[in-house]
Amino acid sequence: MRNDMKKEIIKADVAVIGAGPGGMAAAIAAAQQGVKVVLVERLGYLGGQLGSGLPFLAFMDMHQRQIVGGLAQEMVDRLTKLDGTAGHRYCPFHLSSTTVNPFYTRIVCFQMVQEYGIDLLMHCELSGVNVVDNKVRSVTVTGKGSEIEIQAKVFIDGTGDGDVAYMAGAEYEKGQDKTGVLQPPTLMFNLGGVDFDRFCDYLAEHPEELPYNSGLTHIRPGYDEKFFRNNPGHIFFGLNALIKKLRAEGKCPVNRDTVIYIRLPIPGHVAVNTIRILNCDGSNVHDLSRGEMESHLQILPLIKMLQEHVPGFEDCYLTSVNASIGVRESRRIMGIKKLTKDDAVSGIIPEDSIGIYSYFIDIHSGDGDETYTKTIEEPYGVPYGCTVAKDIDGLMMTGRCISVDAVAFGSTRIMTLCMAVGEGAGIGAALAVKQNIEPKAVNPADVREILLQNGAILSI
Ligand SMILES: Cc1cc2nc3c(=O)[nH]c(=O)nc-3n(C[C@H](O)[C@H](O)[C@H](O)COP(=O)(O)OP(=O)(O)OC[C@H]3O[C@@H](n4cnc5c(N)ncnc54)[C@H](O)[C@@H]3O)c2cc1C
Repeated sequence: MRNDMKKEIIKADVAVIGAGPGGMAAAIAAAQQGVKVVLVERLGYLGGQLGSGLPFLAFMDMHQRQIVGGLAQEMVDRLTKLDGTAGHRYCPFHLSSTTVNPFYTRIVCFQMVQEYGIDLLMHCELSGVNVVDNKVRSVTVTGKGSEIEIQAKVFIDGTGDGDVAYMAGAEYEKGQDKTGVLQPPTLMFNLGGVDFDRFCDYLAEHPEELPYNSGLTHIRPGYDEKFFRNNPGHIFFGLNALIKKLRAEGKCPVNRDTVIYIRLPIPGHVAVNTIRILNCDGSNVHDLSRGEMESHLQILPLIKMLQEHVPGFEDCYLTSVNASIGVRESRRIMGIKKLTKDDAVSGIIPEDSIGIYSYFIDIHSGDGDETYTKTIEEPYGVPYGCTVAKDIDGLMMTGRCISVDAVAFGSTRIMTLCMAVGEGAGIGAALAVKQNIEPKAVNPADVREILLQNGAILSI
């Protein structure tokens, strides 16, 4: 057998694997501290799910106080200058929504990576993690016949699935307690040609299509036809009655009880978050293969269903399909601290918090068609220790694989918090490098001081 893989070695202070909202924030924050950062991404664009059409949720809390600033806000400011966002908007369902042009977010991510002098390795997938004496010394990434060993002082796992930590042998959890069920993946796709006024006329005549009878208790009054008509940055969640009827008639191609779309800041365009693949583990390539196949095959029947049964969508057409299925939930890597459901709903902000948040607990069923939600009245804090691996040195986490329990995860998985916490993780990694200590020995107060200087919000 030939093995002509070209071998290279790259040296950095901090290596971030995975360039979603969590990895992007961590890489930029570390680079801002003046250390040498390399950022690895397996796809051909930056931003992970932020580049799929999904909106930032809950920059604002229940009381409409802004609770996330820093790099996440900087991203929105840059998009505002490009007309690439409808800005922060109150939402009776999602607390607040900040819709984004997914293609502009990808470009803004590249601009930021270039400005902050981050070394970029695209089209490279993690293929090995070298742990010696319980510390990650290097990782290997592979792409296009090259095998690149990255040697760094701190590694940050931004893969969403915790691939680095898993390959390093770190302790992790996966799925809901007892059942192990994982939230289902969804492939995002975008449509043009939507007539929102016509859709709102339909909702005015059919209030039963609003989600107030769907069993979700967290929705406040006002999530209605007028809200959608007057809000160019809205997220629609509903059509339960129609979907129920169509499913009974065998005319609904998805295993879920609602349609969700996001009105994009592009005239007549929406991002559709409605595909749902059940019993699919996003950290298993066989499940992912089935998931990509089933997802792509759901798109045309779903568009046909919208065109034939939903006023305002008669002339809609497919404009893009995301490059990869979106995984809601897989591994959570155990850290020196772990955020629990009780911590999240208690609204406590510990002194070592590097981000605060209050998006509700939002758990999409992985083996059924429903969604469970629970309100969080006051913001909770995410301790720095949730980003530091418990049992392996030189390893940190950012994004959705930080150390939380399965229920708290229903809130922490949101991109706004992924960026807030990622920023803290990146600063922590840079401080560890500069002080020549392990990330676990970094004083969270030092991380917080820098975060605050950079516009992060850590209290209310
Ligand atoms: C369908 C869906 C709807 C959602 N709705 C919303 C919403 O409306 N608003 C919201 O804020 N959040 C939403 N979320 C949650 C949110 O999108 C994710 O939890 C968040 O993007 C996680 O950020 P991340 O950086 O950890 O991971 P990701 O965004 O998944 O990014 C991970 C990055 O790492 C790369 N990567 C992965 N593995 C490797 C590897 N082995 N080697 C190299 N690169 C790798 C990936 O290509 C990707 O770019 C939704 C999630 C899904 C799936």
